[in-house]
Amino acid sequence: MTARTTADRSTRTALVIGGGVAGPVAAMALHKAGIEATVYEACDDSASRPPKEHGSRPGAAMTIAPNGLQALEAIDAAEMVRAIGTPVTSLCLRSWTGRHLAQLTPPADLPTTRFVWRTELDEAIAREAERRDIPLRKGKRLLDATDTGTGVTARFSDGSLERADILIGADGLRSTVRSLIDPSTPKPHYAGTLTFTARVPKTELPSTEGVLYMCYGKRAYFAYQIFDDASAAWSVNLPHREPMTATEAQAVGAKEWLRRLGEAFADDRTPAPDLLTDTPAENVLITGPTETMPPVTSWSRGRMILIGDAAHATSPTSGQGASLAAESAVELARCLRDLPPGQAFKAYESLRRPRVDRILKHTTATATATSAAARTATPKPAGPLSRVLRDALLPVATKVGGAGGAVWGAWQFDHRIDWNERAG
Ligand SMILES: Cc1cc2nc3c(=O)[nH]c(=O)nc-3n(C[C@H](O)[C@H](O)[C@H](O)COP(=O)(O)OP(=O)(O)OC[C@H]3O[C@@H](n4cnc5c(N)ncnc54)[C@H](O)[C@@H]3O)c2cc1C
Repeated sequence: MTARTTADRSTRTALVIGGGVAGPVAAMALHKAGIEATVYEACDDSASRPPKEHGSRPGAAMTIAPNGLQALEAIDAAEMVRAIGTPVTSLCLRSWTGRHLAQLTPPADLPTTRFVWRTELDEAIAREAERRDIPLRKGKRLLDATDTGTGVTARFSDGSLERADILIGADGLRSTVRSLIDPSTPKPHYAGTLTFTARVPKTELPSTEGVLYMCYGKRAYFAYQIFDDASAAWSVNLPHREPMTATEAQAVGAKEWLRRLGEAFADDRTPAPDLLTDTPAENVLITGPTETMPPVTSWSRGRMILIGDAAHATSPTSGQGASLAAESAVELARCLRDLPPGQAFKAYESLRRPRVDRILKHTTATATATSAAARTATPKPAGPLSRVLRDALLPVATKVGGAGGAVWGAWQFDHRIDWNERAG
């Protein structure tokens, strides 16, 4: 037997940068794999995220898809989402006239999609990490990292240095680690819409009984769900020619945005106008610009690797970003459990690239196939002609599920990770 070199030694410790979805899930999975991991998160709760604020992070309201729940199940963590999530049993598409365009239901044998508030998800993830004794250090912004060949030393904005065998970049759309891996990596760019979300404490409208409605409004896109306790959630994609940062949009003020949204939906014969009227201004979350990320060609270099949005950001309306982030986190940990870092990174990328690329392509292809106006990837309002085409074609285009109607998610949702299978 030949002696093992330092390079093929298995991973014992990891620095995980980013305490969103991918980072803590990766740390939990690494922990299960017997690898010590610490999460470093730039945000400091006390300063920037009061507990009741639902909009302090992108994706203030979100759905966790069946594939995301199954990835979490592989590391016994799905319950943290189920405990806080409201079931979403189907998706209903409507035009601005109120016309029913399509009803999509997921395959029956998969876990039910859950609607969650981002703040509650963050809290649930933090509780679960704590229960598993996983350190989550807040107020730690990564500035730089040095790969020494046998490990990585990370430098944070508070001046501290940390060292481990590998460094995982789970630091989201504007990843610092991505630039450290490849300084020429492209940046996300503005996709032409601003996003808003709100929690409506009380509405007179009836419960949608688990159905999430997506309405292709005359001037903007509106999604909503009304819960059994008479509260509701909505989100809007509002076309806006000029790019605006979240901070600039927030400076306009929630009252003014509510007024502008009221105008944008004034002609729509959907519940949008009523739900906007029922929304207190302080509950409007101005999440900022929709951004698209060009494909990231280098996911790793030396002992640094990317997961989640840092590697493969999808459009917000695909409803897949957090679920893909959980999948990648679990798969990377499985590879690191079974293989030394270099081989593990290769195995991880070859497992993840085809699926991620297919989902990214699909969100774009769906947009093209169901006409320019039915952009499920980045909904924008349609012109008069494309509105007519969209409303005529969408019911046909989505009828792919046979007698039972259209299937929601199908192959994207039906993805399981076998934690016990050896990687590589
Ligand atoms: C409006 C909107 C709606 C969305 N809706 C959905 C949905 O319904 N379903 C869905 O699955 N996805 C949705 N998404 C996408 C989803 O939010 C992301 O895909 C998901 O959060 C990705 O997780 P992540 O951990 O990779 O990144 P993030 O959740 O963005 O977490 C990255 C973390 O890294 C931290 N960080 C950044 N830089 C540093 C640094 N230098 N040092 C330390 N920490 C750092 C950040 O503070 C952040 O906490 C939506 C997104 C938006 C914007």
